Amino acid sequence: MSDRLHKFLFDAGSSARSPVRGEIVSLTATWKQIKERHRYAEPVMRLLGELVAASTLLSANLKFNGALVMQIHGDGPVRLLVVECNADLTVRATVKFASDIAIADDASFTDLVNAQGHGRFVITLDPRDRTHGQQAYQGVVPLEGDSVAAALEGYMHRSEQLDTQLWLAADDEHANGLLLQKLPLEGGGKNFDFDQHAHLEAQTHAAEVWERAVTFANTLDRDELLRVDPQTLMRRLFWDETLAVYEPVPCAFRCSCTRERVAAMLVSLGEQEVDETLSEMGGIHVDCEFCNKSYDFDTVDCAQLFATSNTMDGVRPPVRLQH
Ligand SMILES: [Zn+2]
Repeated sequence: MSDRLHKFLFDAGSSARSPVRGEIVSLTATWKQIKERHRYAEPVMRLLGELVAASTLLSANLKFNGALVMQIHGDGPVRLLVVECNADLTVRATVKFASDIAIADDASFTDLVNAQGHGRFVITLDPRDRTHGQQAYQGVVPLEGDSVAAALEGYMHRSEQLDTQLWLAADDEHANGLLLQKLPLEGGGKNFDFDQHAHLEAQTHAAEVWERAVTFANTLDRDELLRVDPQTLMRRLFWDETLAVYEPVPCAFRCSCTRERVAAMLVSLGEQEVDETLSEMGGIHVDCEFCNKSYDFDTVDCAQLFATSNTMDGVRPPVRLQH
């Protein structure tokens, strides 16, 4: 069975708009495909898995066609974690390390990425269709707390003002997560006392639902989040709440690398640098850091890249002439 993300709303019995939304994701096949392409030490693998689960939870609420890219720029043995999740919940991820620094089996989040306190968390929303005037958005904040969830909550708190809490866990088999988010109330009741009263009541009610949901979610332990299937977990945690549960959304691994994109990257490096590498190495070999797929460009390919303004001509595998 493929991986699924489950969305639900609290307080579904009332006529008012729901004050809190929830999501649970369980990634098994997706996580396996990301993991099998790399060999990471246990603490790094856990950290990456949590970030992968979080990326699907946050992407599922975006009304936007493009990619959500989450990066942790670390100052410890892990220099960079990148997770990219598309609007269709296809995801890819990779990690870059500082050279020759050993990673202890019990290394914490702080040991790995915020050892000197200079770690940063970066979120980029990269629209697919920029011709319609959509610009990429990027937010950068210092890393806070000692977990992926704490770092993300810190980010959300600084940037979005919507109360959001995450519970994340990853092991060798699963990358799972739960998200709760307090939704904005309708209307402001600016003109009439009556409206203000109703608005205050709605606010108090929303705060109560939110407090209850977070209290129940806080009873969740790591093992339960990893082992229990999402539907059972939802019922077990929020058994006393009236939930509206949506049709689950599929999630999957997918890498968006192509020969054209690698070619565009080479062009952006410039002809001089490419020529230098060619004369040194005899050809250019690029491995996709996300999926390990290899792309090779020989002297003729590279000459074509720079000879024509239409790079597409240069990126097709060359036809070999028989002598
Ligand atoms: Zn790739």
